[in-house]
Formats: sequence, structure tokens, C-alpha cells
Amino acid sequence: RVDLQTFLDDRFPEPAARPGRSRLVVLAGPTAVGKGTVAAHIQQHHPEMLLSVSATTRPPRPGEEHGVHYFFVDDAEFDRMIAAGELLEHATVHNRFRYGTPREPIARALEEGRSVLLEIDLQGARQVRAADPSAMLVFLLPPSWDELVTRLIGRGTEGPEERARRLRTAKRELAAQSEFDHRVVNADVATAAREVVALVQAPSTP
Ligand code: 5GP
Repeated sequence: RVDLQTFLDDRFPEPAARPGRSRLVVLAGPTAVGKGTVAAHIQQHHPEMLLSVSATTRPPRPGEEHGVHYFFVDDAEFDRMIAAGELLEHATVHNRFRYGTPREPIARALEEGRSVLLEIDLQGARQVRAADPSAMLVFLLPPSWDELVTRLIGRGTEGPEERARRLRTAKRELAAQSEFDHRVVNADVATAAREVVALVQAPSTP
């Protein structure tokens, strides 16, 4: 014998989308603003949320792991993923490497009622908005332009040419912040992460 609730749950599973409970959230913002750090902080404190792992043609940096930080793929595999419709969005970032968001893990998490965080660039954010108008777009801001430059230099992962390229992109990206639903200033990682989570958990407006 099964109890009534189990019987009903089996027959009538929860609808795939659970509005107000699971959300697709895009965290974008200029280079070196700390998107990755804020996203990692959220993942650590809110394992119920899925931090999407992107595919990229960029080679791994020291310490980066395949399947954890990115799926590191070559151009042929990236082309295959696009052709197979496996990517929700994809873009060439900083005029160099390609990055894309695998579709399937996101659909699965949303069906399970988990919110999903995408840490992607502006081009990707726009594509996600077009694909899913209910996605929530959050723009992470540096406390100031000078602070952004300081962070980029301090990170030390880019040479002078790459740095200049990224700062040009950052200027363009900052100009697009009004397209976003929310803006969060990243002066302190824990505070910024808390603000993003509060936005994710806030009841959705109809
Ligand atoms: P990095 O090479 O420093 O890890 O990332 C460079 C840029 O690519 C960052 O601005 C990051 O947000 C963006 N990015 C990472 N994954 C994706 C993705 O799947 N799609 C898009 N459009 N941008 C991404």
C-alpha cells in the first residue's frame, strides 16, 4: 500500500517551472570587478543554488580544474556544442576565446526548484534575456573606476596588452548597466554576495 500523497506525487509530479522558487540569475559586470569571487562565495554558502560551469576554449590557468571552473574544450568541440544546440548562449570574450553556457544542467536544476547563477559577460547576459525574459540580470559594480584598475593590475594574470584590452571592454560594459534589473556594488565580497542572494530569494514580481 502507498499513502495518498506518494500516489499523487507519482501521478502528478510538480510542474517543471516553479515560479517564485527557482530563478535563472545572471551575474555580469566589468572585468576584475570580482564576479568570480562573489559567485564562489554564494556557491559556498548556498549549495542549494547551482553555479553554472561554462565551456570555454581558453586554456586553463594554474589551479583551474576541468568540470569545476570550466569545461575546457577545443574549437571543434565548441562548434559541435553550438551545432547540437547544447549552449544557452555563447560569445567571444575580450576578442579572444569563446565561452558558452551549457543548457542542460540549468534546465535540470530549475526543474528541481533550484536557482541557477550564471557568471557571464554582457553579450551572454543579453542573449539569456532574449532566450528567457524571466531571467534576472544583476550587474556587479566596482566601488570606483580606479578601484577596478587596481584590482585588474593586482590580479596579475594578464599582461599589459591584455589588461588594456580588458579595460576597454570594461568601459563599454559599464555603460550598459542600465539594461540590468539590479545593480550591486562589490566593495566587500560577503556583503555583495548577501545582496545578490537576497535579490534571488525575494518574491518575484508578476
Ligand atoms: P575568464 O577568462 O577571466 O575566466 O573569463 C573572462 C570573461 O568571460 C568573464 O567576463 C566571464 O564572465 C566571461 N564568461 C565566462 N563564462 C562565460 C559564458 O559561459 N558565457 C559568456 N558569454 N561569458 C562567459
